[in-house]
Amino acid sequence: MTTIAARDEKDLLATVRNELYIGGEWRAAGSGKTFAVEDPATGDVLLSIADATAEDGLAALDAATAAQEEWRRTAPRVRGEILRAAYEAVVARTDDFALLMTLEMGKPLAEARGEVAYGAEFLRWFSEEAVRIDGRYSTAPDGRTRLLVHKRPVGPCLFITPWNFPLAMATRKIGPAIAAGCTMVVKPASATPLTTLLLAQVLADAGLPAGVLNVVTTSSASSVTGPLLQDPRLRKLSFTGSTEVGRRLLKDSADQVLRTSMELGGNAPFLVFEDADLEAAVDGAMLAKLRNMGEACTAANRFIVHESVAEDFASRLADRFGALRLARGTEEGSDIGPLIDSGSRDKVEELVRDAESGGGRVLTGGAPADGPGYFFPPTVITDVAPDARILHEEAFGPVAPVVTFSTEQEAVTLANSTEYGLVAYVYTRDLARSIRLTEEIEVGMLGVNVGVVSNAAAPFGGVKQSGLGREGGAEGIEEYLETRYVGLADPYASLT
Ligand code: NAP
Repeated sequence: MTTIAARDEKDLLATVRNELYIGGEWRAAGSGKTFAVEDPATGDVLLSIADATAEDGLAALDAATAAQEEWRRTAPRVRGEILRAAYEAVVARTDDFALLMTLEMGKPLAEARGEVAYGAEFLRWFSEEAVRIDGRYSTAPDGRTRLLVHKRPVGPCLFITPWNFPLAMATRKIGPAIAAGCTMVVKPASATPLTTLLLAQVLADAGLPAGVLNVVTTSSASSVTGPLLQDPRLRKLSFTGSTEVGRRLLKDSADQVLRTSMELGGNAPFLVFEDADLEAAVDGAMLAKLRNMGEACTAANRFIVHESVAEDFASRLADRFGALRLARGTEEGSDIGPLIDSGSRDKVEELVRDAESGGGRVLTGGAPADGPGYFFPPTVITDVAPDARILHEEAFGPVAPVVTFSTEQEAVTLANSTEYGLVAYVYTRDLARSIRLTEEIEVGMLGVNVGVVSNAAAPFGGVKQSGLGREGGAEGIEEYLETRYVGLADPYASLT
């Protein structure tokens, strides 16, 4: 990894279009207003970009609606080839995408490169799925009529994405929508819109027709998305973000009975049993907790460790955490970048203080680093009281609270004692126990002896209040298809 020169940053930022992308054209916001995108490592302004109004949002939906019919009729192979070309282009521009994400979101460059590989993979995966949309033909049970079932694109979609994975959270929606034949309006997070704007350029260069993808950046999310949710031309909302905002958007989606996909918050338990390979569990914990500085919906939020190994596990984890270097993500050797903003940093500190006040013991970290930037060091806390807020709220930061259990049943009860159900991690060498846990823990995804489960080929998503629907895998494209059934008269009737 090399430290990036300020000159390279400026050159890259100069290539990013800072306008709205509507109907294949770049244009300023109707109001002429802009808003600033900041570097969370310094607080400096990176770029000022167009601040869309409600009218701009509706213009984007006009464009998506106008493009929908032709896009639906475009051959699946053509849709797939555009995605494939975009995949190649994103990979070829790995350094640009990685640097842009590091600048606007803060993650270290090495992690940003990892996200480019992961995010691009959705384009490749769905380029392959585009040509595998099928249906069925069967004979009705009475032997008379024939049943024809086929799939059609849902229609114009609205995508609202979060700031934590600026590329992957966009491609996880855009990839399957393009493959299925849907057009779309994308509203990226106001903290990290630049990656989506660069992606829009790449998709246009890859041959995506005007109007299929439209991007509206705004500092006032609900005033742009609200009117779209009330517009009968919109047929689907796919949202990734907090459960709180997701609930509100679900309510708003009821008026037009929209199809919805909701990828919401998590409170992942990380279970370590007495028979686990402890070093492997610590390796897994490093990934599950510190990937993206803990700012991941899949981040391990609670470490639930058998009482016989808890002290050893916590002390090994604290040693590893304590050796990490906090620095701006562009710097050589940066392991941990800044949190996204001061609010996030303050919340993480608040959760640590609350855990301490209930008897928690901080083994490493525990207080924010001096500015500039919103840095918080990796922190391990043991002896955390059952009612500590950090066990019940998504920390979205690099803090690992450790609690203990004595029986498998107790571990399962603790793991399930949350309204969330996105992902869980378990470390054990006992195969039968792994299978039992697969059946007992209430989640959409389970990692067994692994600290990362995300994979473009797998169905990503949660149960309970972690969301609805799945992204990725063979399931991912179904979110953008609706099923149509045709009843055909008995083809032999005319012979009798
Ligand atoms: P957030 O505050 O819910 O925001 C997500 C997106 O929704 C942003 O684009 C935001 O725009 C927009 N938004 C906020 N309020 C809105 C409203 N009233 N109407 C319409 N749009 C609105 O979440 P975040 O802080 O960006 O992301 C962190 C959360 O995302 C965490 O809870 C995390 O677990 C979750 N997440 C889930 C997954 C998953 O796959 N399950 C993946 C990644 C993240 P602004 O940026 O302008 O506020």
